[in-house]
Amino acid sequence: MGPPGSGKGTVATRLRQEFGLDHISSGHLLRREVEIGSAIGQRVGLFLENGELVPDRTVLWFMGEWMKSAPLNDGFQLDGFPRTLSQAKALDEWLAKRNAPIEAVMLFACNLTLVLERITGRWNCPKCGRVYHIYSAPPKVAGLCEDCSIALTQRTDDTEAVVRKRFGIYKRHAKPLADYYEQQGKLTVVDAALSPDERFAKTVAALN
Ligand code: AMP
Repeated sequence: MGPPGSGKGTVATRLRQEFGLDHISSGHLLRREVEIGSAIGQRVGLFLENGELVPDRTVLWFMGEWMKSAPLNDGFQLDGFPRTLSQAKALDEWLAKRNAPIEAVMLFACNLTLVLERITGRWNCPKCGRVYHIYSAPPKVAGLCEDCSIALTQRTDDTEAVVRKRFGIYKRHAKPLADYYEQQGKLTVVDAALSPDERFAKTVAALN
C-alpha cells in the first residue's frame, strides 16, 4: 500500500530481482489492457486517465482472472491491489479458499509534497512496468529500460492535477484498509521518505 510515488513499485522490482518474487501491479495490468484496446481496456480507460478508481466489481473480475494463474506455491507480491476494503475482503476470501493467505502488508507512508516531487521525475518501462526516476533511480542508459532495452515513457496520469486527485482518493481508502490489516497483525508501516536502500531493508526485515 502507498500513494502514487511512495516507492512501492521500486521496492517491488528489487524484491523480484533479489528474491525472484513475482510482482503483480494492478495498475500496470490495467494500463496494458488500455494500450492494446481490449474490451476491458476500453471500459477502464477513462478511470485511469482521470485518476479515479476502477469500480470494485470490474477490478475484482479482472484480478480474479489473473489470480487463476497466480504462483500460489512460490509466493508473489501484489502492488496497487487491493485498494478498497471490499477488494481486500474479496481477496482474503479468494485466498482462504486456496489456503494461501496474505502473509504481510507493507504500507509506504508519504505526504503530498514528497509525492509531487517524486512523480514529476518518474519514467516507466511500458513493457515490464519497472519504475525509474531521473535523480534517485536513473537507468544505466538514459531513456532505456535496463531489463527490456526499450524506450521509457511517462504515464498520462502522472500530471500534477491528476496526482493530487489520486492522492486524495488514496487517503480516503487507506485508513480502513490499513486498519483491516492491522487488526490481522499483518501491517508494517515504512516511512517513504527514507532512502531506497533503507526502504528495501525495512521491507525485507518485515517479510523475514
Ligand atoms: P497505479 O499504477 O497503481 O497507480 O494504478 C493506476 C490506475 O489504475 C489507478 O489510478 C486506477 O484508475 C486503476 N487501478 C489500479 N489498481 C486498482 C484497484 N485495485 N482498484 C481500482 N482501480 C485501480
